[in-house]
Amino acid sequence: MRFTFVTLFQNIIEGYFNDSILKRAIEKKILEISYINPRDFSLNKHNKVDDKAVSGGAGMVMNPQPLFDCLDELKKQDEDVHIVFLTPVAKQFKQRDASRLAKKTHVAFVSGRYEGIDERVIETYADEVFSIGDYILTGGELPSLVICDAVSRNIDGVLGNSESLEIESFETLLLEAPSFSKPATYENIQVPKEYIKGNHSKIRTLKIALSKCKSKFFRPEQLLKHNCTSEMDFVSSKTKR
Ligand code: SAM
Repeated sequence: MRFTFVTLFQNIIEGYFNDSILKRAIEKKILEISYINPRDFSLNKHNKVDDKAVSGGAGMVMNPQPLFDCLDELKKQDEDVHIVFLTPVAKQFKQRDASRLAKKTHVAFVSGRYEGIDERVIETYADEVFSIGDYILTGGELPSLVICDAVSRNIDGVLGNSESLEIESFETLLLEAPSFSKPATYENIQVPKEYIKGNHSKIRTLKIALSKCKSKFFRPEQLLKHNCTSEMDFVSSKTKR
């Protein structure tokens, strides 16, 4: 799977891939990361990539020319590239989008800066647009990384144990049960006793009960929306999302 970051600020992104799970996935050649800087395509003699809004008002907007040329080049290199724009006004990125995008061969993220990207670029090139939440960040680099990370976890071979994906929060309506590491007692605080007795059936029953409590506490609206009442509703909720 290839990810391309279309960004004026490659440095902000690069460091994220220098450690841990994604670094190993790159070493194993499961992931390939590349970058394109729209500034390298600017025909302006000072390599400018932004200008005042034609409507007037405060702030600069990213010009169409460098991005049109940059994205044409990207599509020439790979006509199957799936181009994602990051914008705070779009639909919010969800776990189900992460598993869907993981089936693509090449996803490119286009990061805006300043007051954003000239709308004609988005209209012309976007296969999809995503927000990561209802707040304004200074650029699309963090949202691109957030989505890239979430998608990567769903690609075969990236996680050591793909079973961990199945029980994770948002894979079903149930949030994941609380996790505890060793020791079983720390600072006089004990983990639930069933967790350490080794009876897997009892542990599973307890985890479902704890997941239900957690889900009711943190996401009551989700459970009401999907009319979950019985235990089986919760457990089989994957199909309902
Ligand atoms: N003026 C724009 C508005 O009010 O909708 C905000 C522009 S923001 C300062 C600059 C860039 O950051 C955007 O073009 C987008 O790429 C990115 N960005 C900021 N917040 C974001 C969010 N919540 N989700 C996704 N992208 C975001």
